[in-house]
Amino acid sequence: MVMEIDVAQQLKEGVGSSRSYQISDFTGEEQGRFPVQGQVELLRIDRGILVRGTLETKIRAMCSRCLSPFDHPLRLRLEEEFLPVVDVLSGVSLPVAEGTGAFTIDENHVLDLSEAVRQYVLLAAPMKPLCRKDCSGLCPSCGRNLNQGPCGCLAGSPDPRWSQLEGLVGTGGLLRRERKGNS
Ligand SMILES: [Zn+2]
Ligand SMILES: [Zn+2]
Repeated sequence: MVMEIDVAQQLKEGVGSSRSYQISDFTGEEQGRFPVQGQVELLRIDRGILVRGTLETKIRAMCSRCLSPFDHPLRLRLEEEFLPVVDVLSGVSLPVAEGTGAFTIDENHVLDLSEAVRQYVLLAAPMKPLCRKDCSGLCPSCGRNLNQGPCGCLAGSPDPRWSQLEGLVGTGGLLRRERKGNS
């Protein structure tokens, strides 16, 4: 079942009628399309249809520690009202209050979950994603991704090879200045 559900029949039923649907579709994210799967329950309420359910999907994320891109799983707990823009029996347009934040069921009585899913994905996306709980991150000295193995830097102290190099550079600078002075 894709994220567009024809609810014409259910809108004709009385308040309290409920149906469940297995969703198996894809997100339309620019960074990549990911499967969206789960079960939703549609409950006929006075004003329209209340959708409740849990959907699983993924987003492309960048680890906040090691900066590697990875697919971050998300669980979306959906609970949203969808209000019809047209009365299913009379075909008369219904005023949908602007600014209520409610989603709509279009004039063909199709309830489309994809915009709701898009918004829930944005809300569920972690601020500081981790590629895994024990991500080792990057070495502060050499920048190596420590998940791929140790880098040889001594933790907390600068690499001794670098301090030797610094000494050489210092001497070279001094020599150059002396030569300049002599000429
Ligand atoms: Zn990481
Ligand atoms: Zn290092």
